[in-house]
Amino acid sequence: MLEPHTPLYLDTPPHVITEGSGIEVRDAEGRWYVDGVAGLWSVTLGYSEPRLVRAATEQMNRLPFYGSFNHRTNDVALALAADIAEISPIPMGRVFFGNSGSDANDSAIKFARYYHWAQGRPERRKVISHHCGYHGTTLAAGSATGLPHIHHGFGLAGDDFLSAHCPDPLHPASRGMSEEEQVDWLVRDFENLVLETGPETVAAFISEPILGAGGLIIPPAGYFARIQEVLDRHGILFIADEVITGYGRTGQMFATTALGLRPDIITSAKGLSSSYLPVSATLVGERVSEVLAEGSRQIGTFGHGFTYSGHPVAAAVARETLAIVRERDIPGHVCEVAPHLARGLEKFRGAELVRDVRHYGLLGGVQFDPEQADAEPGRLGQEVLEVAKQRGLLLRAMGDTVVFAPPLIITPGQVDEVLERFTAAYDDVLAARRR
Ligand code: PLP
Repeated sequence: MLEPHTPLYLDTPPHVITEGSGIEVRDAEGRWYVDGVAGLWSVTLGYSEPRLVRAATEQMNRLPFYGSFNHRTNDVALALAADIAEISPIPMGRVFFGNSGSDANDSAIKFARYYHWAQGRPERRKVISHHCGYHGTTLAAGSATGLPHIHHGFGLAGDDFLSAHCPDPLHPASRGMSEEEQVDWLVRDFENLVLETGPETVAAFISEPILGAGGLIIPPAGYFARIQEVLDRHGILFIADEVITGYGRTGQMFATTALGLRPDIITSAKGLSSSYLPVSATLVGERVSEVLAEGSRQIGTFGHGFTYSGHPVAAAVARETLAIVRERDIPGHVCEVAPHLARGLEKFRGAELVRDVRHYGLLGGVQFDPEQADAEPGRLGQEVLEVAKQRGLLLRAMGDTVVFAPPLIITPGQVDEVLERFTAAYDDVLAARRR
């Protein structure tokens, strides 16, 4: 008999986590695991940062709630906005606070539409995203998500959401092409999509700088610069979804800087509070902010916001998170540790059952090849995951790609531990397959 609070989609009891310390978590059976994926790519400062607990407690005692709505806000939300403006990789006009990556992306899509509407272009409503992109599960973010299982049964998308090819260097349709040729092919196809649907109907393009849940896809060099030319040519806004990559994971505060992007809007969540409390920030560039502000001045309202926008306790934790990230130079630490992870993962390149190895900052992926093992797609990933868990390492599998996204405070010694346990899991799966 399953408990009533068992997640809706499960028909077996869930793995219950009860405690955390450093980069490890303990389950209800009392077993400790190294968390190789930081919760959901998100617990950047690990599970026992006392400063975040103190920040939450102090704020709870001072003012547990007053959100940002209508003409009222709170001092902490204002201070967090100023903190974010200081580190923003784009000239930021305003920041909008929400509670999750999904609502940040829904907000960004609404802002893009409002931007066009306020300038007399109400027909610009469509959003282009990638086939393998992940932007969340709410109506708009889920519609922009390109993973079929997110759509299944929910009646999402419709005519306003279009998908461009996944910018995957291993895309079967671009097999045999050089990197340059592949970028040409992707960009040509992207522009054809825009032209076919009518540029005058497109509001925005949304993309992760590195595509996480789609299987850690690192677009080919030069891809975004060329896409940007298409966007500029057709007056389409660019929303960079930095929900995974924001606040240090790539070795820069934002992947926008690491990859030289020029987004109009950046969405962020997860690492903003090291996930200690739910909070998202949508960074709205100056150009869009000005139009939004002028539009709402003229009609006297801007009908978007949540009860918990700018929640003071979440904002206090986010402020402290950013203070720690800056004081300890977490992006610099990532730059030091990342090559260690990269070297360890590179050892799997060309190994039996392995199709590809990818890494960027503290993001890594080992893609298994079901064809080599005559396995169903996704099966090898699940097998490695299960054995890794038995060996005390939590990872995630996106299809056959096993991903690594440890807390950013991980040390080189702990990276070794992750790699050792992963190697042992791989060896076990390989041995079992050979039997
Ligand atoms: N965008 C990206 C890139 C994500 O990886 C995620 C979640 O994993 C989201 C958006 C959605 O965030 P949330 O689950 O907080 O709604």
